[in-house]
Amino acid sequence: MDERLRAELSRQGVVVTTFEELYNWGRKNSVWPLGFGLACCAIEMIAASMARWDLARFGAEVFRPSPRQADLMIVAGTVTKKMAPQVVRLYNQMPEPKYVIAMGACAISGGPFREGYNVLQGIDRFIPVDVHIPGCPPRPEALLHGFTTLQKLIEAQELTGERRPRHLSAEAASEFPIPDHGEHDLVPSHNPEIWPPSRPRAAG
Ligand code: SF4
Repeated sequence: MDERLRAELSRQGVVVTTFEELYNWGRKNSVWPLGFGLACCAIEMIAASMARWDLARFGAEVFRPSPRQADLMIVAGTVTKKMAPQVVRLYNQMPEPKYVIAMGACAISGGPFREGYNVLQGIDRFIPVDVHIPGCPPRPEALLHGFTTLQKLIEAQELTGERRPRHLSAEAASEFPIPDHGEHDLVPSHNPEIWPPSRPRAAG
């Protein structure tokens, strides 16, 4: 619809929308994060949900203790190779549509522990990440920015056609292989289906 006509109708008290806009509006304002943290970045995530930064303003205050009730995984902290299989298992247990924010240098790349033998160099080796938030640690404001970036991604999703999101493609995976602890490293070391990423990544 012509934007000027839409604006004119809006001034007259008539709201015109599409099913796609309504669907995305509902989803972007009711994201429920999974309540789990891995290291110091989780303290910043917790702060973002408290009164001063008030993540509730964006509809995401309902941190769920069960992955079955959550649709956003905020990977907040260092992902050790010991924990990586558990992170993938939790992701697999979340229902679609689901999203991932990699919060902080550790979750993105291993951060200050990048050269450590026991730290994963980025959770996007095993699960698809929608928004990356750099920093060590990113402050709560950065998480809010990353969250609103995710909201914009959800708002822009098309429900049909080539550019429809992953969860609306019947052939796209909803669960990803959980790596094993091998003799010296995780086996496999990454998921070749998603790493290295073929599409540009959004920065928070
Ligand atoms: S990025 Fe920095 S603050 Fe965040 S978990 Fe790693 S070391 Fe801690």
